Amino acid sequence: MRCVEDFPFIDAAELPRPCSGDRIIVGAESEGQTTEQLVNLAVTVPHFGGRRYWFVCPSCRRRVRKLYHYVAFFGERRGFACRLCLGLPYRSQCPRTADDELWDLLNFT
Ligand SMILES: [Zn+2]
Repeated sequence: MRCVEDFPFIDAAELPRPCSGDRIIVGAESEGQTTEQLVNLAVTVPHFGGRRYWFVCPSCRRRVRKLYHYVAFFGERRGFACRLCLGLPYRSQCPRTADDELWDLLNFT
């Protein structure tokens, strides 16, 4: 089972400051093809000051810190979406496979 840690992502906390505008083009490269997508940004003001940027998931419109790059339908569909839209569990939520057990045995340092 693929987990969220297996997918490349972009993190809104790593956007250049200050961000101008309320949209940004995000991109990723996979299998020799580049994916670019226009994504809305949301801004909140934390109690300690400054501004915190968030992505607005293109699929569900939730405010999220990370968007994950996906390739689906044998490369016909590419884009960015949040973890929940892609149905990605965290590694700790994934059932362990026989490969995981073997990997632990081989890396017991
Ligand atoms: Zn979403």
